[in-house]
Amino acid sequence: MSTIADNIGLVSERIRAAAHAVQRDESSIHLLAVSKTKPAQAVREAYAAGMCDFGENYLQEALGKQAELNDLPLSWHFIGPIQSNKTRAIAENFAWVHSVDRLKIAQRLSEQRPADLPPLNICIQVNVSGEASKSGCTPADLPALAAAISALPRLKLRGLMAIPEPTEDRAEQDAAFATVRDLQASLNLGLDTLSMGMSHDLESAIAQGATWVRIGTALFGARDYGQP
Ligand SMILES: *Cc1c(COP(=O)(O)O)cnc(C)c1O
Repeated sequence: MSTIADNIGLVSERIRAAAHAVQRDESSIHLLAVSKTKPAQAVREAYAAGMCDFGENYLQEALGKQAELNDLPLSWHFIGPIQSNKTRAIAENFAWVHSVDRLKIAQRLSEQRPADLPPLNICIQVNVSGEASKSGCTPADLPALAAAISALPRLKLRGLMAIPEPTEDRAEQDAAFATVRDLQASLNLGLDTLSMGMSHDLESAIAQGATWVRIGTALFGARDYGQP
């Protein structure tokens, strides 16, 4: 059985190979360990093997793990759908939010970000798969949303996040990630972040410019939603 440390080595090697294939500097690609449904002990093991950025989708689960792990200098990223009544706890307990897709949520996060913390890093989630996905703003709504969010005082807009429909067709996968990259460039806001690529498609995402890949299964093994 492979350990989390073994898996981090394998994923790092995939990132390195994918970066070299397109002449990118591998240090421009950051690995976010997606620990949703996994116990605090798994996060501790990953930290011991060199990881410090962790992604969570479910607020209550994340807060529990943060409390158990408050002896470690971890950086937490919220990557799941956000309800209005969860924004305060997210603003108080995370360094990044990758899944902002409407202005009302962004305004609340800005208002609720504690004054003693640095601005909250934000990615706008954009839906490039049309009706196949319900989360994410439409490409048409993106420019106005990005302009409004970049004006909020306690947020720092960093870039875009996307979860394109999975496909076995590499050209199709590349085209979806390229759309996200082009949308980011067309905003002309000097954004430095593209959060895209998961366990099954990180090579394609890196080829199209990903700066954060969000990896769960390939690091921690398959998730069991029956026993969270
Ligand atoms: C679960 C999740 C991931 C990780 O997916 P894997 O396929 O397990 O690597 C990445 N991003 C988001 C938004 C997720 O919800």
